[in-house]
This record gives sequence, structure tokens and C-alpha cells, in this order.
Amino acid sequence: MNESTQLFNAKMSCEKFSDEDAPFYTDRNSGKLKKELAQHRNCLLCSSSLQDLYLEKEGFSFVKCRDCNLVFVNPILNEEDTISLYEDGKTINNEIDVLFKEMNERVKSFDIAFKEIEKYINIGRMCDIGCGAGAALQAAKKRGWIVEGVEPCKKARKLISENFGITVKNELLHEDTFADGELDLVTVFQVIEHLVNPTKFLSRVYKILKPGGVLYLDCPNIDSLSCKLFRKNHVHFSGRVHLNYFTPQTITKMLESTGYKIIYSKTRVLDITISDLFRAILNLHPVHREGSNKVPRVFHKAFNMFDYILKPQLEKLIIKGKIKGSYLTVMAKK
Ligand SMILES: [Zn+2]
Repeated sequence: MNESTQLFNAKMSCEKFSDEDAPFYTDRNSGKLKKELAQHRNCLLCSSSLQDLYLEKEGFSFVKCRDCNLVFVNPILNEEDTISLYEDGKTINNEIDVLFKEMNERVKSFDIAFKEIEKYINIGRMCDIGCGAGAALQAAKKRGWIVEGVEPCKKARKLISENFGITVKNELLHEDTFADGELDLVTVFQVIEHLVNPTKFLSRVYKILKPGGVLYLDCPNIDSLSCKLFRKNHVHFSGRVHLNYFTPQTITKMLESTGYKIIYSKTRVLDITISDLFRAILNLHPVHREGSNKVPRVFHKAFNMFDYILKPQLEKLIIKGKIKGSYLTVMAKK
């Protein structure tokens, strides 16, 4: 597993929230989100109320803004129930345990991200928003950054404070979490897709950055080869947890509309295997990342061999910009 894949896997597990039984928010008759729990949103990028249906999955409707092409879930499960998912409970707590176990490996992969960041900003004061178990904070601290985290999960905050002596705040958007112009760097690793109002969030981050301060943001890319191949079967599409879906164009527009100057935007990692591709081509009910039992076992070794040989070549094509990777990384400046 290469470093970029490790970083990407580090936050992948938030996509395991699908419930086997009908979840509390689904209407048993219609199979859709219960009306009384639904929260409607205008486009988060241009405020338009004109949307076309993009796809439907697990009771959620994913729409595309007719004016700016942003894809988002509409309606979403109300804000209170959305946020509570990340604060406490079995799923998030198990998740944090897993992230803690993988700490050393994950610190190494974040170290690579900080090496890249430091080409654009001197080491200073930083905050990782949605810091999970704190691997990015650990990596930054080791490199000399003065670090603070923001994380809604109670268990994670307690563990990070006890084990690493790093302060982690709870509030994501409150005006008094940080003073205006306080930070040199804010990192946001796979968080923005989870937020009810990403524009408001980016505006708040802009305020707490120093002039010339840097935002490093990473999120899923729905313009990727794998999303195009697998459409609704791709794990990125999860209406309960992923509320916003970006392309290189829409994330750039949102950042520019909130005041940032883009340093660069690129895609990374191809989260499909040759086996996935075969399943897609043969139409073997491709359910991405949810088991390959539809493919006869005898093919598995051959697929693994193809992956071993071809995946590095595909990754090279992503770096050259010829194939669009599954994640977007954007660096922007205040
Ligand atoms: Zn729009």
C-alpha cells in the first residue's frame, strides 16, 4: 500500500454507516427519508433552488444544481441527527478505536502531506479540523507545528488529550473557537463532504487564518473514473454521511467565492482494482468495495497480478492529469 492510499484509507471508514435494517430515519412505506426528519437546502455554492435529480440511494436523493453543477444530498437528515452521529455512539467510538490502532502508519502518511504543505507556508500555528484520532496533529507536532484540533467525537477528544497532550476543541463553527487571523494553517482532511453548510464553514476558516495563511483541503472527487464507472454503487455516495459532492471545478468555485486564492488543485489515488473494472465491464452487479463474490474465485489471483502490474501505471496517469483520481486535494491561500 503506498502512502497516498494510506492517507485515503485513513478516513475511508466513515463510509461504513449503512444500516442493515431500515434505519430510524427511513419511512417504511416509501423507503425514503421521513418527511418530519428531512431538512431541505438550496445550493450551497450559488443559493439556487433549481436542481435536477442526479441519483437516488438508500432513501436519499442526490441532486445537481442547474446553475453551478454542485452535487449534494437534498433533503438531508436534519442537522441535529446528522451531527449526533459524530459525537458519541457505538459506530463513531469503534471507528476511533480502529484509527488509534493504525496510528503509526497514519502519522507517516500525514507526514508526507505536511512536507508538501511546508513548501508553501512556514511552520507556525495550525489546526486540523475533524481531527479524528489525531494522526495529522501528531505528524504536524513532530515537525514543529504548534497544533490544536477540532473534533466532535467526545471519545477522540479525551484520547488525544490524554495520550498526546494536544488540545482538541469541540466546536466546528462557533465564532469564539479561534480568534480572527490566529492561524498559519488549517487542514481539513475529508470533512467538508460531511458538513451541512460547507460555504459557511469555509468562510469561518478564512477568518481564522492569518493573511497569507494556508488551507489544505482533501475530499472525495465525484468526477473520478471510479465514480463515473460505479455511479450510485460507489461508496462515496452515502446520503447519511456525505452531504456534499465536489469536482475540481465546484470546490475551486466554492473556495474562490469565500475569498481564497487557489495555490493548486489536483486529484489523487484510484480507488478501484482491476477486479472492480472487470465486474463493471461484465456488469456483475458491481457493488464497489462490498465484496467480490460475484467473480469466480479462480480469477482472483489473476486480478491481483494485474493490479500489481497496472495500478502503479494508472497512478502515474493520475499524476499526469490523464485520469481523474478518487480524491481531490486543494491548497488555497488567504
Ligand atoms: Zn448552485
